[in-house]
Amino acid sequence: MFFFGVMEVQTKYIFVTGGVTSSLGKGIISASLGKLLQAVGFSVSIQKFDPYINVDPGTLNPYEHGECFVTDDGAETDLDLGHYERFLDIRTSQSNNVTTGRIYFNVISKERKGNYLGKTVQVIPHITDEIKENFYQLGKTGQYDIIITEIGGCVGDIESLPFIESVRQARWELGANNAIVIHLTLLPYLKKAGELKTKPTQHSVKTLLEAGIQPDILVCRTEQRIPSDIRKKLSLFCNVDIKSVIEAIDADTIYDVPLLMRKENLDQIVLDKLRLTPKRKTDLDEWKDFLGHLKNPTDEVSIAVVGKYVELPDAYKSIAESFVHASARTECKVNVQWVSSEDLDNDKLLRSLANMDGILVAPGFGERGIEGKISAVGFARRNQIPFFGICLGMQCAVIEFGRNVLGLTDAHSTEMRPDTPNPVIDLMKEQQNLTDKGGTMRLGAYPCDLKKGSMAEQIYNTSQIKERHRHRYEFNNLYLKAYEQAGMIASGVNPEQNLVEIMEIPSHPFFVGVQYHPELKSTVLRPHPIFVRFVQKALEYKKTKQN
Ligand code: GLN
Repeated sequence: MFFFGVMEVQTKYIFVTGGVTSSLGKGIISASLGKLLQAVGFSVSIQKFDPYINVDPGTLNPYEHGECFVTDDGAETDLDLGHYERFLDIRTSQSNNVTTGRIYFNVISKERKGNYLGKTVQVIPHITDEIKENFYQLGKTGQYDIIITEIGGCVGDIESLPFIESVRQARWELGANNAIVIHLTLLPYLKKAGELKTKPTQHSVKTLLEAGIQPDILVCRTEQRIPSDIRKKLSLFCNVDIKSVIEAIDADTIYDVPLLMRKENLDQIVLDKLRLTPKRKTDLDEWKDFLGHLKNPTDEVSIAVVGKYVELPDAYKSIAESFVHASARTECKVNVQWVSSEDLDNDKLLRSLANMDGILVAPGFGERGIEGKISAVGFARRNQIPFFGICLGMQCAVIEFGRNVLGLTDAHSTEMRPDTPNPVIDLMKEQQNLTDKGGTMRLGAYPCDLKKGSMAEQIYNTSQIKERHRHRYEFNNLYLKAYEQAGMIASGVNPEQNLVEIMEIPSHPFFVGVQYHPELKSTVLRPHPIFVRFVQKALEYKKTKQN
């Protein structure tokens, strides 16, 4: 149940704001706190409110905003939701990511329907009411003890003002023991002065205070340990008790952050402020095991990830993290080499792939770099190097096989060459008459039947799976017979629409292409089985090379 004012409120709310600069890692801090609260028995979800006007990040170029993370229910969301899922092993949904664009979209739709009964529709109260309604949506399901809400952007930005005002109102409505605000800030270190500086934090807290919000806890990103006189200073000038000045020192891996936050007692301080008592003794055993394996590998492999957004590793965040999870599980360190598919047109670079123990061709859109990706697949196929293709990577594998094994020299995807005589990858029927770009791809989780005796079935060890999608094009079934006769089989098929989801070459040591995005479901405690097998196969391959 969910009531306001003097009545009972069961769900507790933690709002996380940021100051001084962006990219301080609010998502990681939120996910780490969520993990710690989960470890003492609370059910936790995390949501992110982003101040930009796009209705969702689905239409954003990865260079703008990093990877677009897709949830089971087909929402295209901010990449921080990936961290929430990977840390907490929970599933998020559309409700976990709301942008200014969506808020305005909802308010304007309501206005058009006449829901505001002739009133002038304004930022206050209509936009802020809509924001608050969305703040409370997950809490109202009654499934969670605690909801952590991360507010994107920086305090003081013009565009975050309505969110900050809504946090102020929400805290007032919910009451001090039911809602707290954590402010994440930066303490820059001035080498010449040999000092950590508190002024930017003081200013950013002042900006919050002007908006009517006194932060309960300060989490301070820093490259150096925070001496006690600096903690005292922060406490005094920001009205935050000294225990609640938390040091967030740079970590070796993001997965260390929950333990570092625990050392600083962040979980206990939060629980005290929310008047909660732990439901059980902290259980982080599995997490610590994971870190132990991650940090003490017995082997190591090099894997090339071929894509066109490689200058910005955030564009492939979930793939990078899936390798981290798989490397802990296999105790085999994975050195990911990011290879730009545009450079692969050049023979020399293509030959440099020979030093790799595995090749992954990444997801993507559009023509740029496509031939390099196709060449990379051919290189892996001919040289028996373990190959893993994801989404566009799988489509490239199909094109390469069509051209070089079936002899269809003009085989292509109609995404790149609409008039190709051999459209081995073609637009899905449902996509043909669509004109809007936002939210119209095949999105979210769909079932997939695995072929008996296939590599896919062995890897998953089950006959049906559900994986997440984000694409418009698909394998053209008119060619399926020819492919299968020539040795590339469809080992995973969507049972409802007969869409090919997995292609593999059984005669190759490891050659698997998937139309879906397995990287979106890999978590710390449940690494994705294809990534795990891929790393194992890469290691096997490396060992045979050495013999
Ligand atoms: N561009 C391809 C499609 O739309 C692949 C998409 C992807 O890799 N996510 O089908």
